Amino acid sequence: MASPKKNKKKKVCVVGAGVAGLGAARELRREGHDVTVMEQGGGVGGQWLYDPATDGGDPLGTAGAHSSIYASLRLNTPREAIGFSDFPFFPNKDGGGDARRYPCHGEFLRYIRDFCDTFGLMDAVRLNTKVLRVAMAPPCDGDVRWVVRYEGEETGTTAEEEVFDAVVVAVGQYTQPRLPTIEGMDRWRGRQLHSHSYRVPDTFKGQVVVVVGCHESGKDIALELCKVAREVHISVKPTAGSISAGVVSNHHNLHLQPEATTIDCLCEDGRVVFADATGIVADAVVYCTGYNYSFPFLDTAGVITVDDNRVGPLYEHTFPPALAPSLSFVSVAKLVVVPRFFEAQARWVAQVLSGRRSLPPVEEMLRSVEEYHRAREVAGVPKRHTHNIAFDWEYCDEFGEKHCGFPRLEDWKKELIRSSMRSRLDDPESCRDNYHDSDLVLEGLRSKGWLTGRAPAMQDKDDSDGQERAPNPHTHL
Ligand SMILES: Cc1cc2nc3c(=O)[nH]c(=O)nc-3n(C[C@H](O)[C@H](O)[C@H](O)COP(=O)(O)OP(=O)(O)OC[C@H]3O[C@@H](n4cnc5c(N)ncnc54)[C@H](O)[C@@H]3O)c2cc1C
Repeated sequence: MASPKKNKKKKVCVVGAGVAGLGAARELRREGHDVTVMEQGGGVGGQWLYDPATDGGDPLGTAGAHSSIYASLRLNTPREAIGFSDFPFFPNKDGGGDARRYPCHGEFLRYIRDFCDTFGLMDAVRLNTKVLRVAMAPPCDGDVRWVVRYEGEETGTTAEEEVFDAVVVAVGQYTQPRLPTIEGMDRWRGRQLHSHSYRVPDTFKGQVVVVVGCHESGKDIALELCKVAREVHISVKPTAGSISAGVVSNHHNLHLQPEATTIDCLCEDGRVVFADATGIVADAVVYCTGYNYSFPFLDTAGVITVDDNRVGPLYEHTFPPALAPSLSFVSVAKLVVVPRFFEAQARWVAQVLSGRRSLPPVEEMLRSVEEYHRAREVAGVPKRHTHNIAFDWEYCDEFGEKHCGFPRLEDWKKELIRSSMRSRLDDPESCRDNYHDSDLVLEGLRSKGWLTGRAPAMQDKDDSDGQERAPNPHTHL
């Protein structure tokens, strides 16, 4: 619901300086708010700030690390189709860096840092500042406010508190491992780790490894491990990804357990026994079984819960109706174009906070959330996939248009993402280097300067909404 009024400047805390938090900071500033981004890490970038030191501590837990990125990781989304709506992920102008369509993770970190510098965001970011608690403060003039307790570089070991008019939660979703429950897991003498703690294959040399799950990380890790391990066995539920038989047959030591043959138990003698009663003696099990949402700092007296990976209730994956708009989430949606969707969410949040737009009444938002949950259930979608948007373009485009006048994603980008997903299914090993673009994609690439070798300036705009954007917009925000 749009409203012509825009009068309220809010003091807003954004938790997290990954792409979602940084995008939120920019949108909030554009709308005139006073923004502080609290980031527990020593730099911006979130997941893309590679952390080599995690394979100790608790390899089935978070091991104290935020990032789950492994050393060899290359993006699985084409650079031309992702990125902020008005800040294309062009290769570095000076020719340095990794100009490939699917570059290594460091290239995306370079892009995020460029974004930060270009938009002068660093002065809003407090690094090494961990948010310990976010709870409701006594209201002021009837408005809900939030007290944020944090500790870090500035406070030393003493936690400090600061009151904000609003908090935007942007802590990501790929840090808290989600694990299956398997009999014998607690006693098995082999090595068990979650993909969150996997960095390099070296320590698996000559070993027999079982990889559980075959989504993006599972595939990458299994294919990397089979270069050094003696045997790699993939165990996958029908709903946990897949790998084609052709790919498996290319590797003498890669084995795909028959479909639906999950691990039944881990035995003390080192055997891994599968549901069809077959078994192998293994050295290691790597769980590529996904992640759970986790907001350990959030104290909402039970208003928001995480139940089987459903964060709820969340209106449009963004606002908890009873606490809206002063509390919002911008990085809960899954399988959306990153960071575009988060950027649209943040623009909506910023505009609602300023009074430019208004939300429906609480009851209506709650009803909408219930209807959404019901529709997903009817469609057979498990609760844990509540926030999985599955690149539903109609939903994403409508979301942006309806809530904040965000531009639709261009058709050629949709086609590029679709074809990239298809080839990743067929050929996960070489799809990042061998691809064929349709005429629609080629025309899109050409019209946006991707094929000329020229890295257009930011003002050339990619698919922005037509608003003027200055190169260093800090003074315009
Ligand atoms: C292995 C892997 C591969 C991926 N590959 C791709 C890909 O190819 N393409 C793609 O589009 N996406 C990919 N993703 C998804 C990726 O997570 C998103 O692209 C994006 O990084 C999400 O950004 P975010 O800001 O939501 O979260 P994050 O990047 O996770 O950032 C969250 C930030 O919040 C901070 N934080 C958390 N808790 C606190 C606290 N209490 N106090 C202060 N700060 C806190 C963290 O330190 C972090 O900096 C991949 C993810 C993983 C794990």
